[in-house]
Amino acid sequence: MNRFKDSIRFLAGNHRKGKGLGKRQEQAAKEAKPGKGIQTLLTEEEGVPRRLFPYLQKLGLRCVYDLLYYFPKRYEKPAPLTDWSDLEEGVPATVQGEITQTESKNMWYARRTLFSAVIENGEESIKAVWFNQPYRAKQLAQGMEVLLTGVPKKSGGLWEMVHPQPNKLDNGEGMPDLDSLIPVYSLTEGLKQYQLRQVIQTILKKYLSEMEDVLPSDFQKEHNLWSLEKSLPVMHKPKDSEALAKARERFVFQELLTLQLALAVRRFKQHGIAKAPIILSSEKIDNRIKKRLLFELTEEQEKVIEEILEDMGKKHPMNRLLQGDVGSGKTVVAAYVMLVAIAQGYQAVLMAPTEILARQHYETFQKILKNAKVQIDLLVGKQGVQERKNLLQDIVEGKSQIVIGTQALLQEKVAFEKLGLVVIDEQHKFGVQQRALLRESSGIFPHYLVMTATPIPRTVAMTAFGDLDISTITKLPPGRAKVHTYLFEEGQREAWWQSFRKGIEQGRQGYVIAPFVESEDFSEVDNVTEVYNRLKDGELLDLSVGILHGRMSTELKEKTMRQFAENEIDVLVATSVVEVGIDVPNATLMTIESGQRFGMAQLHQLRGRVSRGTTEGHVAIFAKPPNELAAARLAAVVDTNNGFELAEKDLQLRGPGDLFSTQQHGLPPLRIADLIRDEKIVLQARKVAQSLVEEGPIWKEEEYRPLRNAVLRRYGKVLDLGDVG
Ligand code: ADP
Ligand code: MG
Repeated sequence: MNRFKDSIRFLAGNHRKGKGLGKRQEQAAKEAKPGKGIQTLLTEEEGVPRRLFPYLQKLGLRCVYDLLYYFPKRYEKPAPLTDWSDLEEGVPATVQGEITQTESKNMWYARRTLFSAVIENGEESIKAVWFNQPYRAKQLAQGMEVLLTGVPKKSGGLWEMVHPQPNKLDNGEGMPDLDSLIPVYSLTEGLKQYQLRQVIQTILKKYLSEMEDVLPSDFQKEHNLWSLEKSLPVMHKPKDSEALAKARERFVFQELLTLQLALAVRRFKQHGIAKAPIILSSEKIDNRIKKRLLFELTEEQEKVIEEILEDMGKKHPMNRLLQGDVGSGKTVVAAYVMLVAIAQGYQAVLMAPTEILARQHYETFQKILKNAKVQIDLLVGKQGVQERKNLLQDIVEGKSQIVIGTQALLQEKVAFEKLGLVVIDEQHKFGVQQRALLRESSGIFPHYLVMTATPIPRTVAMTAFGDLDISTITKLPPGRAKVHTYLFEEGQREAWWQSFRKGIEQGRQGYVIAPFVESEDFSEVDNVTEVYNRLKDGELLDLSVGILHGRMSTELKEKTMRQFAENEIDVLVATSVVEVGIDVPNATLMTIESGQRFGMAQLHQLRGRVSRGTTEGHVAIFAKPPNELAAARLAAVVDTNNGFELAEKDLQLRGPGDLFSTQQHGLPPLRIADLIRDEKIVLQARKVAQSLVEEGPIWKEEEYRPLRNAVLRRYGKVLDLGDVG
């Protein structure tokens, strides 16, 4: 029973703290530590100024190894060489000239030093100043020919640059490379770029030869990758963008390979250990189920059912993600495969994120299984003590064949007699550790199917989510009406409410969505209660208006939902609690207030509520976008009706970082790789990792030991890998 609880808890996004390592693992982890020198604490290094210690610590940089693997977040190109006559205030530029004058000042009263140099080209001059960089005096002297890169400004009619980057021209190397790139690191307040650059360069010179190259040299050749020794200096001081690309590729590959190896090792072990029931379908079962369904399955539904059944027929647990846009008909797919499980004598579970949704699923199953001898049970939070006790009894005895519930399934001591399949609806916060948990106990494990309307890029699913297999429904079932989405200005309010009212008077129903805000000082934001009060005495006077939000009691919520479903309520004023799954086909109108407060995916989910039937839906969004990004996202929602395209736009607009980080799913963050941008390498690394692990002998050779250790160091504990050999 714990196995179910733990694994579901994980799927539900409650990451459990990593468990203690076994003796053997501890030993292995110890041996996996890198060489002594690069473990030297930065606080013990002479080349690191004491005053920087607290900042480095804040950045999580403890030892030499950490520091050298602290890669720049981006690189800047020096400004192009500029004609003196083209100088413009505030526009970065590089000028060439001769130093005609220098001056050092110690401004003790201001606790700072000043070094300045005047650079001339015969006609014009510019003054460069540096505060607290006394070493400039040794670097720059009168008579030198230099390039000066910085931001020019006029000071008393004369050009000046504060803290420009100087480059000497008479050092025998000719023109410095204006293609070279300047690293820019993530800092913490108080730390300066040049300080961190200096420390890194000092440490790099001293320790480069001690850094271990985890990739065997034959492997590097085979995959056309640069060595560590060649790549590391380039990362911290690239000569040009081509060199940087090669160096970066090496580290991205290394990082993704390490991750993929960890996942491959785990998969390999689990397939040997975790046993799931083999659940096969048959023509007879298929016929019986199809007769019960309320409509004909679409081609895509058939296809994904086939994919799922293939997994369920294997002896290790399925771990599959079913993704499909809002309204694409995932529920019936779940129902089908759950019915196969119970036809073969297993219990099946469906877990929903909210009680309303759980009840809705419960009703769907009751309809499908009308007059069948199948016991379906609902397990939600607030049931009576006795009722719950009986329920748990039925579940443990196996009488209860289909159990539908909420997170309450996790809190209860739910033990199953013969659990074959677990389906999790509308959930995309599930992590990679779930199977590690499944592995913990012996015996039989259920198959897992996770359903989501939020499309997850393939590379993310196969990494951050721990190697999930994916099935996708791309089209909506036939006969579905369109939804029209409008972004309205305040001035269009009256006209919109008139047509909204007209729709209701013609027998339709509608939603009004507003954010829920408790505190009163958010007065500019619509509060669902406020909106409700305003509308029922105003625009929606004489109509039957209901309210729904998360703070209401369960009984009241249910009652309201039921009334709405039975058309006793015309308009439901609600928070985004209606976002997931609620299915009332007669509701075809929606007004969204304070649209800027909702995410793109959320808005899309919301409008999905008014395209459940055959009448076209209309959604009006009123919003005050606070910035351009917010406006662009709202515009995208209006332009794109396809949830998958929308998700792609979302990724483009705000970058993948926010959405899919490995960290969010319980794994250490990636240092350099980007699961979206580096898709090609993700796929390549995955292939290489799988063949390495499956072919065994090479992977176990001595020259792969550093790589094995790297995998263990980074993922051993979190993925419970034990000994990776
Ligand atoms: P979602 O994927 O968002 O969970 P649902 O499973 O709730 O979507 O399905 C949305 C609606 O489409 C439901 O009313 C369902 O009955 C209907 N539906 C699903 N599959 C089909 C089909 N093959 N033919 C007709 N209607 C379908
Ligand atoms: Mg659904």
